[in-house]
Formats: sequence, structure tokens, C-alpha cells
Amino acid sequence: MNVCPTCTGQLTWVDMYDKWFCHQCKRYVEPTKQQAQIPKSMTLWYGNNYRIRKKVLTVWNKYWIEDPRGRKLGFAKQKMFRLKEDIRVFTDEKMKKELFRIKQQQILDLWATFAVIDSQTNAALGYIRRKALSSTFVRDEWEVLNAHRQLVGGLYEEKGRGLARKYIPGGSLIPEKMAFELNGLPVATVNQQFKIIGDIWNLQGLNLPPDFDRRVLLGSMLLMGMIERQRK
Ligand SMILES: [Zn+2]
Repeated sequence: MNVCPTCTGQLTWVDMYDKWFCHQCKRYVEPTKQQAQIPKSMTLWYGNNYRIRKKVLTVWNKYWIEDPRGRKLGFAKQKMFRLKEDIRVFTDEKMKKELFRIKQQQILDLWATFAVIDSQTNAALGYIRRKALSSTFVRDEWEVLNAHRQLVGGLYEEKGRGLARKYIPGGSLIPEKMAFELNGLPVATVNQQFKIIGDIWNLQGLNLPPDFDRRVLLGSMLLMGMIERQRK
């Protein structure tokens, strides 16, 4: 948890200045040495705001991970109606340089555990587990595990909304709204926007720990977009 060294108010990370901001004393706070030590090449995955843009084409669905300024950070594609066991995220559409992949762990169970793996080091960054029962009948729910396979949090759909989306006629036209929690605290929100040829999921970090690799969260958002029920 990041708090202001002066007033102990909660800090918000400001990507534009690479500094924290304290809303209580209205001033910027430099990141700590440890926070500043995150390798430059990795800063891509330690921001607070991202969006995933999905484009529905005839055979392929395409997905872009973008920063708030619309800069493309990652690209993945998926054959229509098929969830691959191995989703690869590349730097761009040329698909030459792979950034990370999402790999299904147990093939027998369709909604099993997925590992988010750094393509360069082959190390697991974390795991995503979809709760089959509650996701099917009540609301979308994704559990997030750390690299040591310990449960640390999850992505949860707003309760009433999940039911409405599933059971009310036309309910599937209600965009998804989810909260990401770590250790029981809401640290980010995910909001879906419908577009004519695809959708956008906005990720807004409210209090994401600086050392939490956002690819784990972006991975669950990608999976969410890929297995979403047909709406149209
Ligand atoms: Zn303060």
C-alpha cells in the first residue's frame, strides 16, 4: 500500500509525470528507490491505465492492448469461436516479437487455470482461474494467483449486473463492469464499452501495487473478451 510520507493519505500513480500524487496535500511524491528500480523495459506493465480493444472480423478476432494515449503495447488474435489453449501476445500485428503468453494448464477442464508467462524468461508471472459455476450462473468471476500459485485476488463482476446480463431479455447488451481486488481491497476497475465492430475494455488502476505485473490482469481481460458469450 502506498501512502503519503507527509500525511499518510493514499497515493495515486500519475503516468504522465512518473510520480505519485497525494490528493490530501495536493502534491507530487517521488517514487521510492525500490519502485524506481523496476527495469525501464518493464515500465510498460506497471502503469495504471490500459485499454483492450477488440475488433471482430470474419475469421479472426483481433485484440490490441493500448495505453491511455492510444499507443499500441500488444497484439493478439484468436480464431472466431475458439479459445486457444495458448494465447500469444506480440508487440504488434507483424507478430515477430512475443511479449507474453497465456497458457491453459489443464486441457480437460475448459474453464481451468491459465498461466501468464513472460516470453523472454519463460517465468510464470501469475495465474488466472475462472470459477466455472459462479461464472456460468451468477456473474463473471476470475481468481488471480501469484507466481507461487497463492490466491491473491480476483476480478469480480458487480453482483446484480451479472445476473441481469445473463437472465433479463436483452441483458447481454449491458456492458460488463468489474472490480479487481487484491488482498480483499479494490485496486482497479474494468469497464466494457460496446462498439459496432468490437468492444473496448478500460482498465483503471486506483491503487494497484507498484510491483504487481499488470500483464496478469490484462491477461484475464483478454481471456474474458475471448470467451464472452455471443451477444449480437
Ligand atoms: Zn499527503
